Amino acid sequence: MADFGYKIQEDRQINYDSNDRTLFYFLKRVEPSISLCIGCGTCSATCTAGQFTQFDLHKIMLYVRRGEKVHIANEIKKCMLCGKCSLVCPKGINTRNIIFQTRKFIHSNK
Ligand code: SF4
Ligand code: SF4
Repeated sequence: MADFGYKIQEDRQINYDSNDRTLFYFLKRVEPSISLCIGCGTCSATCTAGQFTQFDLHKIMLYVRRGEKVHIANEIKKCMLCGKCSLVCPKGINTRNIIFQTRKFIHSNK
């Protein structure tokens, strides 16, 4: 194929029907506040781990909703469970518990 010096952007359509959203449904059961997330990004802005790594909780919340588990397992390890994100969330979401439960889910579904 000819090299034009640029790539056509990857398809970023999200197919909710084919993605595996079991983690999201599990979290909705054990921490129902996850449904309140408005994607504001305040959690990422104050995140302790985010100051030292590329960890982005706001992104994780999106991946969980979309059922894109492949990105989550490695990223979630970077969280220090300090709980700062829970304190600043404008919707009062227990983000710390969401991370804790996500780790538990990933560990038991290896
Ligand atoms: S601060 Fe709360 S509402 Fe905002 S993105 Fe994070 S979890 Fe969602
Ligand atoms: S609990 Fe994790 S995600 Fe929340 S502020 Fe602390 S390091 Fe960041």
